[in-house]
Amino acid sequence: MSTKLPTKIRVLDTTLRDGEQTPGVSLTPEEKLRTARRLDELGIDIIEAGSAITSEGERQAIKLIANAGLNAEICSFSRPIQSDIDLALACDVDSIHLVVPTSDIHLQYKLKKTREQVNEMAIKAIEYAKAHGLIVELSAEDASRTNISHLKEFYKAGIEAKADRCCFCDTVGVMTPENTTQIFQELKKEIKVPVAAHCHDDFGLAVANTLASLRGGAEEFHATINGIGERAGNASLEEIVMSLISFYGTKLNIKTELLVETSKLVERLTGIPVPPNKAIVGEHAFAHEAGIHTHGVLAYPGTYEPITPEMVGHRRRFILGKDVGSHAIKVMLKEVGLEPTEDELKQVVNRVKELGDKGKKITDADLQSIAESVMGVIGEKFVELNELTVVTGNRVTPTASVRLKIRDQEFLQSATGVGPVDAALNAIQKVLGELADVNLDQYRVEAITGGTDALVEVHVKLRRNNQIVTARGSASDIVMASVEAMLAGINRLLTRYPKK
Ligand code: MN
Repeated sequence: MSTKLPTKIRVLDTTLRDGEQTPGVSLTPEEKLRTARRLDELGIDIIEAGSAITSEGERQAIKLIANAGLNAEICSFSRPIQSDIDLALACDVDSIHLVVPTSDIHLQYKLKKTREQVNEMAIKAIEYAKAHGLIVELSAEDASRTNISHLKEFYKAGIEAKADRCCFCDTVGVMTPENTTQIFQELKKEIKVPVAAHCHDDFGLAVANTLASLRGGAEEFHATINGIGERAGNASLEEIVMSLISFYGTKLNIKTELLVETSKLVERLTGIPVPPNKAIVGEHAFAHEAGIHTHGVLAYPGTYEPITPEMVGHRRRFILGKDVGSHAIKVMLKEVGLEPTEDELKQVVNRVKELGDKGKKITDADLQSIAESVMGVIGEKFVELNELTVVTGNRVTPTASVRLKIRDQEFLQSATGVGPVDAALNAIQKVLGELADVNLDQYRVEAITGGTDALVEVHVKLRRNNQIVTARGSASDIVMASVEAMLAGINRLLTRYPKK
């Protein structure tokens, strides 16, 4: 199905403003700059870098971003107050996102001002910003709960004062796709400057509503990476972008193959985990478990994949569980140089299914060790732990020293860390540093309920260039479990297994 949308659609990314307003998220200026560079590389048209009024650190960040020589227009959030605009100007931004509450609820309870007073503040602010050379995007906050004729008057007065663009904010996420299209069509009849949509996900409709706004004539949309943002979040940028490209044939400047990488960077810096089943960028977005599905995908990916993982920089994964098929296992083992006979393969499949029935998730490393033991292959271990010593306490910097055997040589290194696990893993990475470029992408502890002597399971995800492996370690000692997981993953990544 193809529906006509405006030919030119601009993307405003507000990961660094609305996204950073996610409860518990706070980025340093350097982290914000790093994110902005990535967003620029991704091809974002406008980066809302923050809100200059917030703090000294925030201003530092916005200024760094504004002076980083990026292609994107750099924008600061601003209230209709002269001092806000002055602070934005001091950060050298190109534009302000001038946000003015327009609903009765916001006027009465938040601002305690009349509509006339607030509109006058808006006009003054626009005139002041324009006189100082700023591009002005005039946002009606809580527009979705504002009387439509008030809203039109507000925008028209703003445009008369030379606002460059207008934005309709569904601040509390209460629109539906139907009334969104309708209201944008209505607005576009009279508003000739570009109109943007800013949608929130309180009912899980932010992406649908954003698409509906574009169908109604919006020429710009606001979104965040991973859909992070206040409460249930903002519209998710990667979902809108891929929908526009896939269903509407829209041409955007976005380099879609950077979407997953960008998502991961934002996940890491904000500490807000991406749910595994999240569309486009989630860990399982291109993962297949059921036997029939895997078989289909291996024969022809289009059977169960609407877009290719490569398009968004993702990768296809086969998850092993009780539903796994022997075909998938055969392909996965072949990738690591193991080619079991039919009979051996059957045994491997049975063991995987047995574990699956017990509710276990089987990692790549587990599969390999199962296959090795079935096939009687003694994998030559790349690295082995000979000794580990950790010192920690309230009066010492946690320090670890490790003695690792790599092939036939022994290496000794020590490192400090924020805690004993960090120190131990740092020491291992120090040894490996010169030998292999292995990154720890994810570290997760699964505490198994019980006393302090209970078993702890540590899951790690390691990456070396484009190769990713997951591995697990379990021990009663969290440091040992971590080290075990790390070394299992490293061996999985670096060992060349003898072909049978
Ligand atoms: Mn918002």
